[in-house]
Amino acid sequence: MEMEKLEKEMKQSKFKKICVFCGSSPGKKSGYKEAAVELGKELVSRNIDLVYGGGSIGLMGLVSQAVYSGGRHVLGVIPRTLMPREITGETVGEVKAVADMHQRKAEMAKHSDAFIALPGGYGTLEELLEVIAWSQLGIHDKPVGLLNVDGYYNSLLAFIDKAVEEGFICPNARQIFVSAPTAKELINKLEDYFPSQENVASKLNWEKEEIEEYIPPPNGRCHQASLT
Ligand code: AMP
Repeated sequence: MEMEKLEKEMKQSKFKKICVFCGSSPGKKSGYKEAAVELGKELVSRNIDLVYGGGSIGLMGLVSQAVYSGGRHVLGVIPRTLMPREITGETVGEVKAVADMHQRKAEMAKHSDAFIALPGGYGTLEELLEVIAWSQLGIHDKPVGLLNVDGYYNSLLAFIDKAVEEGFICPNARQIFVSAPTAKELINKLEDYFPSQENVASKLNWEKEEIEEYIPPPNGRCHQASLT
């Protein structure tokens, strides 16, 4: 029966590749490391490949090794300057070298069907908030999930609720991301996610574009030449 349930989950996942943002540090509590390994195994059990920032340090290393040793494809997207082993360690699976951090985020996003953030620091927060902000603009409509291990993100969630209360985030945009305490629950929620935000800037995208000449509007209102 358990086997049947597992097979059903594997067949039914709508995601082929998920991008994981997480700490380049392991964190102090063992629960963070366990959650990274558990997430990797959950991806494997659902036949989902991993896209991540490359390297073998911290939670990044644990999740990538769990997915790789489970036989799924791992794509590490890493800026050339971070490639020396002493900075990020050895990357498992396929490595894509990119010019800079901006290109890394664009590549990670392009190759993924959804995003998950494990606990992490500034880098993780920046990556997470960027995919949320870009979803808000309609630049993508891929599901975003927060793996709230041991309540690590409770204060961020409380802050976001405060921003809604104070009128800086509209209640609809609060629904852009989902959160859950375990990988299984989180991926189930991501599977059920349905985007509801409007495409206010859908012509923008992650890639570098040639900026077209700015055409001043005749009536003085702000107007930007098309970027696509
Ligand atoms: P942090 O949460 O500050 O540890 O940063 C983790 C995120 O930032 C990862 O998802 C990576 O994309 C990036 N990052 C930060 N430091 C490194 C590093 N030494 N090697 C590779 N990626 C890193």
